[in-house]
Amino acid sequence: MRPFRFVYSVGAFGTVLVAWISPCHAQYGSQQEQSTATPTPTATPVVFSPQTLADLKRLQQAALSSDYAYRLVAHLANNIGPRLTGSAQAAKAVEYVAGELKAIGCEVQLEKVMVPHWVRGEETAALMQWPGMAGNTTQKIVLCALGGSVATPNDGITAEVITVKNFDELKAMPRDKVAGKIVLFNYPFDKRIAAEGRGGEAYGEAVVYRSDGPSAVARQGAVACLIRSVGGADYRILHTGQTKYADDAPKIAAGAVTAEDADLIVDLVKQGPVKMKLVLTPQTLPEVESANVIGDIKGSEHPEQVVIVSGHLDSWDLGTGAIDDGAGVAVSMEAANLIQKLHLKPKRTIRVIAWMNEENGLAGSKQYAKDHEKDWANHFATMETDSRRARRRRYRADGESRRAGIRADSGQPVLF
Ligand SMILES: [Zn+2]
Repeated sequence: MRPFRFVYSVGAFGTVLVAWISPCHAQYGSQQEQSTATPTPTATPVVFSPQTLADLKRLQQAALSSDYAYRLVAHLANNIGPRLTGSAQAAKAVEYVAGELKAIGCEVQLEKVMVPHWVRGEETAALMQWPGMAGNTTQKIVLCALGGSVATPNDGITAEVITVKNFDELKAMPRDKVAGKIVLFNYPFDKRIAAEGRGGEAYGEAVVYRSDGPSAVARQGAVACLIRSVGGADYRILHTGQTKYADDAPKIAAGAVTAEDADLIVDLVKQGPVKMKLVLTPQTLPEVESANVIGDIKGSEHPEQVVIVSGHLDSWDLGTGAIDDGAGVAVSMEAANLIQKLHLKPKRTIRVIAWMNEENGLAGSKQYAKDHEKDWANHFATMETDSRRARRRRYRADGESRRAGIRADSGQPVLF
């Protein structure tokens, strides 16, 4: 049984967290993921010294009035912009975050990592034939390539489109119905459960078509795969994200079409044959050198013992990465900023990490786990803030960092 553990962090929008985590709390956290039952609150045992509690209160108050994290997010999103791994913006973000961490007095290291470099090319589609069409017209379809997608030929492919709701419907189709076609997975994001606060669940159900759809249809001979854009966004707003190719299937071009265009295609396909011209020309370029940005506030008593507070610096390229995950990087940096400003002296090293390549490869966290394998026993807790930063309802703390693959199981009280 693992002894008690303390994890502590400061959020950009004014929250300070002191979490008390025992094995039963950790288990309870995972049950809470599955159920909507209201847990019975239990009192947090008083395990901090009066001095520590006073310091935490000061941190909380300072966090409530600081705009440092907000300014960092604004710079990352507005000035630097989208930070897809391997891009010039990602490189600039590394430089910027390193400079900021130095400015607040952290010991900064750039830990080298080779990262994939996928670039988006042309991405256009149009319906060329459908029932009831006016002569010599086409119908524009708004879409984007999925991350990691291979390309169509430069002049595109023109093929009949078929639609399926899900994997079961695909599997039930004979191969000759799928072979040579462009297959659209029209799996709708469940806005109802998302509105009930279960957005992660709705996302998980839909996003599997993004990751596994292309290989599933390729096994049945399809020439390209489209999915209904994942998420609750309308107004022809697209969601990208990484797809993955299985080893046992041909690699075919993969894209996401807007919810409105998915509905349009489904409606027309019900009426008769629909042909689409699809052009996607992304490229996977040679890997490039990048870095995880690491900023330490050395511990006053146990400098070798580490508590990681982190977010990921890379983002997708269709937005500016403010929420995913500029804010996660910024709240982590804010924690360090406030500790320094208030001249607090944590006993253990607080390590801020801005991870590289979380979105399409996890190269940064894998590299860190490899480079620090011998130090694992000294990693006492790891946190990554990612997704749903605007209103934090709970923190989940694990004995293991899912992202980094770092074990934090030394079982000692952490921090202060
Ligand atoms: Zn993220």
